[in-house]
Amino acid sequence: MDQVRVRFAPSPTGKVHIGNIRAAIFNWLYARHVGGKFLLRVEDTDLERSTPEAIQTLLECMEWLGLDFDEPVVYQTHNVQKHLEAAEKLLAEGYAYKETEGPKAGCIVFRMPKEGRIEFEDLVKGRMKKKAEDTQDFVIVRSDGSPVFHLANVVDDMLQNITLVIRGDDHVENTFKHIELFKALGYTPPQYAHLPMIVNNMGKPYSKRDGAAFVGEFREQGYLPETLFNFLLLLGWAPGDDREVMTREEMIEAFSLERCKSSPSRFDMKKLRWMNGEYIAKQPKEQFKAELVARLKAAGLPEQPLNGSLDAVIGPVQPRTKVYTELPGNCIYFFTEEYPFDEAAVTKRLKQPGVRELLEEMANRFEALEDFTEEATEAIVRAKSEELGGMGPVVHPIRVAVSGITEGPGLFELLVLVGKERTVARLRKAAATLTA
Ligand code: GLU
Repeated sequence: MDQVRVRFAPSPTGKVHIGNIRAAIFNWLYARHVGGKFLLRVEDTDLERSTPEAIQTLLECMEWLGLDFDEPVVYQTHNVQKHLEAAEKLLAEGYAYKETEGPKAGCIVFRMPKEGRIEFEDLVKGRMKKKAEDTQDFVIVRSDGSPVFHLANVVDDMLQNITLVIRGDDHVENTFKHIELFKALGYTPPQYAHLPMIVNNMGKPYSKRDGAAFVGEFREQGYLPETLFNFLLLLGWAPGDDREVMTREEMIEAFSLERCKSSPSRFDMKKLRWMNGEYIAKQPKEQFKAELVARLKAAGLPEQPLNGSLDAVIGPVQPRTKVYTELPGNCIYFFTEEYPFDEAAVTKRLKQPGVRELLEEMANRFEALEDFTEEATEAIVRAKSEELGGMGPVVHPIRVAVSGITEGPGLFELLVLVGKERTVARLRKAAATLTA
């Protein structure tokens, strides 16, 4: 078999939609799995949208995701002459005609077959068929002499010797046209694999109204490229076992078109967050530290915690951080006494009967401890919980008073990291704001 050559053929617009980059990921993995070539073709014929900046954004997104390509980038606009030559050939051989009347006057129009069926084997969706009578002739060169997408796309796939086209299933209808163009130009069409639509919770096409939809937005929101790559792969493919978080090598090894799904894939933001947390937890501690320090600096906060070491704080914070933009908010109370209070938590956990007395009592008991350890603080909290008939009424008010928020490391670990003096002071300060 000839060498496998696949390509990603985006039309740059300045923003790279996740549906498009998913096609790039599938093509890339396919090429890496079979040892073929992955090529990039920039379909830049829409000169208004395909600005140098838009192309730069596209290249940056690919680099960020580690989607390297094996030959120099092909720009579609450089091939216009070839597209027009192909149109001339089709005209000369009777596969196309020049329209003389109506709104298409002056256009070159491709003749679709008038009888029989147009068929192709889709490697994801199976056999695809269409009656010739349900198709229509279509324009391949506009009256101003510019080639239309269908012609350019097909001629470029021929020029690049593409053997397999993996793209979104919004192109299925086009493929019926494209294979006829290939045949008329004397080429065997490549194979095709159309990936299922990405949909929202309602089963409708996922769009920017549903949340972040462009690669750059996920990047800004603190998602790691490894996460986005892994997550988008699972939108339309599964390894066939229960693995979800996989290394790049595992994905290359396991990837196959047979395991691609043909039914729509639901975009699940919760799962993306979870997965990003898994990747953050696995990152080298130094890398996490660098992120935290950069974000502390940007927030005008000290780079060292008020108590203990930065490494000690990172211990429980790293595995609990879902996206980097949560930093330093999710651990700010280790770095400043001016930590903000979550209003809802204050209402629910602090502004309640008996909480003022509870916090004062806990402050006194903690203060009396010789060794302010996890075991010792836990023993005190447990004793009080037995008195009150549950851990919740003790644990929650203490946590909110000391950290301002409801989530974080285990309470006793948190208290020890904040330190005895500051824990006691914070409990008293919170108590003082509450009415007796
Ligand atoms: N430029 C088209 C797109 O981005 C082409 C897709 C393709 O053939 O892969 O939708």
